[in-house]
Amino acid sequence: MQTVLPYQQTKFLKSVGKLSQLPADDGVEVAFIGRSNAGKSSALNTITGLKGLARTSKCPGRTQCINLFSVDKERRMVDLPGYGYAKVPLCIKKRWEETVDLYLQSRHCLRGLVLVMDVRHPLKNMDLQLIEWTASCQIPTHVLLTKADKLSGNQAKQTLLKVEKALEPYGEFVSVQLFSALDKNGLNEARDHLEEWFMAGELSH
Ligand code: GDP
Repeated sequence: MQTVLPYQQTKFLKSVGKLSQLPADDGVEVAFIGRSNAGKSSALNTITGLKGLARTSKCPGRTQCINLFSVDKERRMVDLPGYGYAKVPLCIKKRWEETVDLYLQSRHCLRGLVLVMDVRHPLKNMDLQLIEWTASCQIPTHVLLTKADKLSGNQAKQTLLKVEKALEPYGEFVSVQLFSALDKNGLNEARDHLEEWFMAGELSH
């Protein structure tokens, strides 16, 4: 599939701490989620082709806000706060869970979720809980196994097969691929997936 969306024109829209500050619940949103340091910001930057779009950070867990980016007037990418960072105080973790749960449960324009996992540490508890939950709510979820360049081709393929097998019970709502922000392996596949979601359904204009 040819990329038809103007990813390179993606702009930072706003950063919100509360769901009430989100833009109107219309158009299409695709959200990105994952453990801190899994490579979510790098994936967003690579997919849009914009290096500095989502701040990549060596200090995981720093951002507890929901960051929104507009691809065009009706399509947004949503960077949900990273989870699973041990040094985050319990109260913040709890707030994260409440905010993200509520976003995922209540956001009508959410068309799909990109779940980012480090290919070397896939399927941690929180990842599995999320998949369990999104599959039960029939929110399409696409797993990016990031940092694929850190493994040999064969190791990466083995991990992909293992994860695919583990996610088989969730059926058509969950898919998985290898991805590398470093060598851009899997970029077209990831964009194709996003595009399916962004172009699906009726938009108002
Ligand atoms: P986030 O916390 O999930 O947003 O993770 P970041 O995107 O900030 O990435 C965390 C660290 O992993 C940074 O040092 C990135 O440079 C590195 N990283 C992210 N993606 C890749 C990748 O595909 N390959 C390699 N080798 N490093 C990556």
